[in-house]
Amino acid sequence: MTVKVAINGYGTIGKRVADAVSRQDDMEVMGVTKTRPTYEAKMAIGKGFDLYCAVTDNIPKFKEAGIEIKGNLIDLLKISDVVVDCTPGKMGAANLDLYKKMGVKSIFQGGEKHEMIGRSFNALSNYTENIGVDHTRVVSCNTTGLARTLYPVSTEIGIEKVYATMIRRGPDPNNSKKGPVNAIVPVLKVPSHHGPDLKTVIEGIDIDTMAVAVPTTLMHLHTIVAKLSRPSTTEEVTSIWERTPRVTFVSGGEGITSTAQIMEMARDLIRDRSDMNEIVVWKDGIHVVDDHLYYYQAIHQESDVVPENVDCIRAMFSLTEDNMASIEKTNKALGIN
Ligand code: NAD
Repeated sequence: MTVKVAINGYGTIGKRVADAVSRQDDMEVMGVTKTRPTYEAKMAIGKGFDLYCAVTDNIPKFKEAGIEIKGNLIDLLKISDVVVDCTPGKMGAANLDLYKKMGVKSIFQGGEKHEMIGRSFNALSNYTENIGVDHTRVVSCNTTGLARTLYPVSTEIGIEKVYATMIRRGPDPNNSKKGPVNAIVPVLKVPSHHGPDLKTVIEGIDIDTMAVAVPTTLMHLHTIVAKLSRPSTTEEVTSIWERTPRVTFVSGGEGITSTAQIMEMARDLIRDRSDMNEIVVWKDGIHVVDDHLYYYQAIHQESDVVPENVDCIRAMFSLTEDNMASIEKTNKALGIN
């Protein structure tokens, strides 16, 4: 079976998901939507995607700009099996009823609330729960990062409690309107939403999170302390993550001492858009003291959720019921690990 995929919202996440889906042999992109005739609309056509207008009233603007569109969102949904909703945070919820009415499955992103559907997805930790479902949500970039490193430790060693701080980028690199420019902004609501969000994909994990936004656009950085269920060693935890897909190591000793060098490394890898889909853990920043694990990880917010959307499609259409098989297939197609 080849799953027919619509992408609604062709921005930071949507354009990456479109490219990632187009590289798989068991799914195809039926079209992408834009609201306005921007350069991204032209780029989508240049890449060979069919373009649809998300706002019907704006169709004449595309015609004026000489950009060919195939129809509106409803036309795209009619020919698709699933829609990946990559509209800006909190906008997707308004589309759920339309997707249901049109009989298409749907995947939302981390900017939407878990409660909207009551289901969320992470390929490593709860793929099975999403097999065959009609609607779900891929958790946010930060929650994806927490799930990728904490889930294997929780299954192999056991975790009693996690305390984590998310040091978050201000805006994405392409966003010139948002800050902070010269401030550090704490999230005063404690716990921040990340801890509760992780519980939607790792049942029973006990985690409290705090968050601050800082003047950078490159990546998020997490500082994490986990109380393990038994004493362990740095070597044991390191070996777990060595075997975990989409987790990669860097080393301060080798000159990667900040997110700036990680993104330079990503550029050196010559991947699409210099993305770093893996969660990046500092190997020489992992410390286990008796039953306490301490580590730092960096999250490329623009790209870590992209392969998750591909695996989510596979789960929803039961293309494989083995999450590791899906992860491996996606990774191979995208050149990850
Ligand atoms: P974005 O603003 O970069 O892209 C959103 C796109 O949707 C834009 O192209 C915009 O023009 C378009 N759009 C606006 N209104 C629309 C409508 N009514 N119908 C169709 N398209 C519309 O946003 P993004 O960063 O790609 O975020 C998308 C989702 O992914 C959000 O839920 C966000 O929380 C989540 N997410 C973002 C990041 C990140 O760091 N950028 C990481 C993980 C998850």
